[in-house]
Amino acid sequence: MDVDYAIVGGGPAGLAVAIEAAMHGKTAVVVERCRGPVDKACGEGLMPPGVARLRALGVEPPAWGCHPFTGIRYVDGDVIAEARFLEGPGLGIRRLALSEAMLARAAALGVTLYQGTEAMGFTEDAQGVTLETSRGPVRARWLVAADGLHSRVRKEAGIDATPAATPGGSSGRRLGIRRHFTVRPWSDKVEVWWGDGVEAYVTPVGPERVGVAFLWSGGKGDHEAFLQHFPALAAKLGPPESTVRGAGPFGVRVARRTRGRVLLVGDAAGYLDALTGEGLSLAFESAEALVAATLAGTPARYEADWARITRRHLLFTGLLLQVARRPWLRRRVVRALRRFPSGMEGFLAMNTGHWSPFRALPSVGAVGIGLLTG
Ligand SMILES: Cc1cc2nc3c(=O)[nH]c(=O)nc-3n(C[C@H](O)[C@H](O)[C@H](O)COP(=O)(O)OP(=O)(O)OC[C@H]3O[C@@H](n4cnc5c(N)ncnc54)[C@H](O)[C@@H]3O)c2cc1C
Repeated sequence: MDVDYAIVGGGPAGLAVAIEAAMHGKTAVVVERCRGPVDKACGEGLMPPGVARLRALGVEPPAWGCHPFTGIRYVDGDVIAEARFLEGPGLGIRRLALSEAMLARAAALGVTLYQGTEAMGFTEDAQGVTLETSRGPVRARWLVAADGLHSRVRKEAGIDATPAATPGGSSGRRLGIRRHFTVRPWSDKVEVWWGDGVEAYVTPVGPERVGVAFLWSGGKGDHEAFLQHFPALAAKLGPPESTVRGAGPFGVRVARRTRGRVLLVGDAAGYLDALTGEGLSLAFESAEALVAATLAGTPARYEADWARITRRHLLFTGLLLQVARRPWLRRRVVRALRRFPSGMEGFLAMNTGHWSPFRALPSVGAVGIGLLTG
């Protein structure tokens, strides 16, 4: 089969590239090893820029699997700090619902979906790429690696991927697990419950459902055991309604995003941590940039665009990781954010790109004063 884009991976990044390409009149094949809507360990909080991109892609998430949220709440013992997004709500979205909606949109636009299909090696020549799959070869102008954190295409393209430096110490790389509980969401915010060595991310993902994801460093994790670190949270939950799923380790630094006709997007392009819940938004924004650069015949431009899209996230997430690893500092920061809620609003607005760092300066300054005087 001959197409413009052969896309390995039918997760959010791969489907976003396929939809974006089809909206520009291009042909795409998505090769995904799973069948039907794809589930994955995820905090499932889509930040406001991701909501805007999803809307621009014409994807309509089903009501059964989503719930809006207006901001972020930090819970550190009995200290609570919270702030709203200035640019509008985010969306808690069950991965199965996101996948279902994106698959429907892609199919409606004429994207070819090879589900239950494994992508194998590829060869490249001056005119295009031939991707080998368990269904036979696909010939394409561009090969898109959207095959996640441990991307095989990236490896076969000879692009180096190394563990990102562990911020603040050597207690191992970060991992995540999640599970869903049947309960009416009690908060209109995504809640981050801070503990020493583990954080809980609580996201409303349906009219009667919340997801609880844990992130931690080092060895094996047990969802039930982690929950016991947060008895006040455990008391709010109803019965579990999904099995535990895990992912990681995070922290993959990738040397480059393009090589010849191969382009990397989503987690395959590099990923730091789920701490600020931005993987989906970054994947959607990068998908748009990838298609624009290839349509213009300037794939190298994508590298610069990717750096621009992810720069703020990498800086902010890196800083927050440093804080998370130092309980004394974390407690001080959460107390300062509680004293200066407008400062926390400014941080959120800067992190999502709604405010420039310059515009956020007074907010950051206020939190800084809170830190020094708290
Ligand atoms: C615990 C946790 C919490 C998170 N919380 C959030 C959050 O709240 N908000 C947020 O925005 N992000 C969050 N993230 C990050 C987010 O989940 C990822 O950034 C996102 O899933 C990246 O999408 P992707 O399409 O690049 O990769 P994936 O979702 O991993 O999709 C890759 C796809 O490629 C397929 N594939 C791989 N290899 C092959 C092959 N050889 N052949 C065929 N198919 C293949 C896989 O089956 C998979 O479906 C979280 C992540 C974790 C682990």
